[in-house]
Amino acid sequence: MQSSHIAIIGAGVVGLSTALSLQKAGYKVTVIDKEAPGMGASFGNAGLFADYARLPFAKFAMMCKMPGMLLDKTSPLSMQGSYLPSLMPYGWGFFKACFPAKYVQGKAALKALQEHTQQADRDLLALTGAADLIKSEGCLGLFATEDGFATAQQGDLKERREQGVNLQFLNAKQVRDLEPDLAGFHAGGVFYPDTRFTVSPLELSRRYAHHFTANGGIIAQDEVLAVKPKDDGVDLRLSQHSVSFDRVVICTGVASKALLAPLGVKVPLVSERGYHLTLDIGDKQLSRPVGWLDKAVFLTPMADGVRLAGTAEFASADAPLNPQRAETMLEHAKVMLDDTPEIKSTWVGSRPSTPDSLPVIGPLEQHPRVSVGFGHGHLGLTFGAITGQLIAESIQGQTPSVDLTPFSAARFS
Ligand SMILES: Cc1cc2nc3c(=O)[nH]c(=O)nc-3n(C[C@H](O)[C@H](O)[C@H](O)COP(=O)(O)OP(=O)(O)OC[C@H]3O[C@@H](n4cnc5c(N)ncnc54)[C@H](O)[C@@H]3O)c2cc1C
Repeated sequence: MQSSHIAIIGAGVVGLSTALSLQKAGYKVTVIDKEAPGMGASFGNAGLFADYARLPFAKFAMMCKMPGMLLDKTSPLSMQGSYLPSLMPYGWGFFKACFPAKYVQGKAALKALQEHTQQADRDLLALTGAADLIKSEGCLGLFATEDGFATAQQGDLKERREQGVNLQFLNAKQVRDLEPDLAGFHAGGVFYPDTRFTVSPLELSRRYAHHFTANGGIIAQDEVLAVKPKDDGVDLRLSQHSVSFDRVVICTGVASKALLAPLGVKVPLVSERGYHLTLDIGDKQLSRPVGWLDKAVFLTPMADGVRLAGTAEFASADAPLNPQRAETMLEHAKVMLDDTPEIKSTWVGSRPSTPDSLPVIGPLEQHPRVSVGFGHGHLGLTFGAITGQLIAESIQGQTPSVDLTPFSAARFS
């Protein structure tokens, strides 16, 4: 048993995974969250353990497309005007990340994480008895036109294949054989046989939290107002009082930027909001997540209905839900299903996104008793377990299984 007491701030999928890894390593661990576990971005994701996602978003070709996409109200990309000033450091970072050398470094860093991810989350699922929440049916990414599919085959899909991703190209008939209830809106697409998905992101967080507390971990519901490192520990100022720990790990998703700023750590983190609609699709059935890649929406069959997830809306985390975004997504779902599904619920939440698409993981240079795990953007579910493992390894003084240099907060200074 380690003698240190470590606090994790944030009970999303990243904080909970980190708590479990540290508990397994023998530390006394307390998780502090202002909400119940799993109610942040981790509540609303599309459920994919996206093993294929190894390419950063930032590329000059993407940057050139962005102004047109922002003007098109039906595109997946949108921005709240008043959020523009907060986007400036991110935009500059995105521009720098577009240079080919940076892109290649980013690809290598994501590939290195992915190579350890599957084992890390299989271990976590086995530890917590949550494997029944995961399905291994692969995932489909479809294109509306032959041209779009052909372009992708020469672009992103070629790059992924070169990175060792297991993928198959399917024509429209082969897709129909896999998903007979899907409408014929597409010209085929890509099948990733190794991709898994969860039927309930919330239940997954709850299982993690349950295992953690059943094994002596403490979950406290409170807001951390300030993190104050000192020579022999770290004080946390909570809503009513302060508490001291030997070490602290900040896993507060999109809120991490504000907690870190007073420590002199500046990160160009933004709130990239995504939406989901829970749909009742009647007698129709889907066996796996299906993405319409031109529209950047996914339909994932979950325990409480089919989750239609997507959209990248750069807006403050507390901005009201924009019904127009939800309506646009619903229009896409109607085409995918050739039907009008019933909406059971609508949700919006903030992906914690960095300009180079890489999460921020590891101890802070200036404050070695404070570690961080945030900024996972579109891939927090996928990279939760490996993030926890890497943070635990670094806190134990071991050489982390993946080189943490590309993920350091210092890369932004
Ligand atoms: C629509 C959508 C679809 C997505 N699909 C996928 C997908 O298919 N696959 C995938 O891998 N990823 C996906 N993602 C991304 C993924 O959901 C996120 O990257 C991930 O949930 C981030 O987890 P987190 O633990 O860092 O943050 P969160 O889940 O947001 O957790 C942070 C926690 O910190 C707490 N907190 C914040 N500030 C404080 C404070 N001061 N004091 C105390 N507590 C605090 C919050 O209450 C919250 O519970 C998707 C995201 C969205 C929005």
